Amino acid sequence: MKVYKFGGASIKNALALQNVAQIISKHNNLIVVVSAIDKTTNALERLVNSYFYNQDDKFLLFEKIKDFHFQYINEAFGGHSVEVRKLLGKYFDELNGRINIAPSKNYDLEYDGIVSFGELFSTVIFSEYLKEVGKDSVFIDIRDVITTDSNHRDAKMLWERSTEKARNVFCTGNNIYITQGFIGRDINSNCTTLGREGSDYTASALAYMLDAENVTIWKDVPGIMNADPAKFKFAEKLNVLSFREAVELAFYGAKVIHPKTIKPIENKNIPLYVKSFYDPDSEGTEIKELSYKLDLIPIYILKSNQTLLSIWSKDFSFIVEENMSKIFGLFAKYKIKVNITQNSAVSFSASIDGDSRNFDSLISELQEDYFVKYNLKTELITIRYYNPDSIEKMTKGRKILLEQRSRNTARFVMEYVGETNI
Ligand code: ASP
Ligand code: MG
Repeated sequence: MKVYKFGGASIKNALALQNVAQIISKHNNLIVVVSAIDKTTNALERLVNSYFYNQDDKFLLFEKIKDFHFQYINEAFGGHSVEVRKLLGKYFDELNGRINIAPSKNYDLEYDGIVSFGELFSTVIFSEYLKEVGKDSVFIDIRDVITTDSNHRDAKMLWERSTEKARNVFCTGNNIYITQGFIGRDINSNCTTLGREGSDYTASALAYMLDAENVTIWKDVPGIMNADPAKFKFAEKLNVLSFREAVELAFYGAKVIHPKTIKPIENKNIPLYVKSFYDPDSEGTEIKELSYKLDLIPIYILKSNQTLLSIWSKDFSFIVEENMSKIFGLFAKYKIKVNITQNSAVSFSASIDGDSRNFDSLISELQEDYFVKYNLKTELITIRYYNPDSIEKMTKGRKILLEQRSRNTARFVMEYVGETNI
């Protein structure tokens, strides 16, 4: 059995869907993990906000998402859309019912309950489309398989339970299974999500549970590149990477794969391929266990929209073990993603994701013990296998606010100067 994962961009319109169906049509014995169509998850996030904070545009946002999906099936199915309309309509009725009752006080729980519909919409369309083009498939609601804890929006998988269910559900060898990434269910039957872009993780988790032969993540780029090709003209594909290298790149923010993806497949030594859905026969990038050390060219990972937070202790106490663990406790409490830190005797800096929802609460709590300053809209660039040229290329003429170098990796937080196109 193999596992394929298709992201939102791969099925962004009817034509794209047709292409993906073609890629699948040659196979049997496959699990296909699908994300929400195009930018649906972002749209659903806006709906959650409107619903939770009781804003006026709640139904407008709902209708927009609904129209988009129904328009999509009109294009994809033409006149043959009776069944898919019925199935999709059911999900929209369910979502509509949900936003018509008052929300609980738990934002993250409401978020998961609503945002998870994106994957349900896409997969029901996807599996009906396969039927339409004459390919049989089995639709699986992955919430019946992936059981998680109740840490909404970043739920942890309960591996034993999920594995047992996965082995019961994905049981016959010759089927094509269509299922959702990113979503699961906790033991109270509430919907959970695994963190934004988490479908890759679902794919690798299923591969682990079912001892799959390999996993392929289908993307709109030729593979894993040494820089984001949308931003850097010099970007080139990396043909092979070790699990270790891939996990480091993902952790530093290479957007091609979700950071949690590597661990499950590494643990069972299951190779991962990253390939282009535009060019399915080309080689892509292979990630596997390597017995030799790769000689890699510099790899650039840019994280934009960062906030650089700098704090000083008010009473001149050292920022060491105890204070440090309190500061990190606050990041965890407010679910704020920390991308790099640095500290001196009485000061501490951290670059965090700029759109952090609980930022204001974090700042007020820090202000109890620290003087706090922050720079908005900064960028964090990481260079693996740096050399003087690569550093010059990235930092020339830029104001560096924080800098760190280890043997293989150089990292810089810099002021944003607009789009680069080197
Ligand atoms: N649809 C979800 C997101 O956009 C999950 C995923 O795409 O992997 O975050
Ligand atoms: Mg997505």
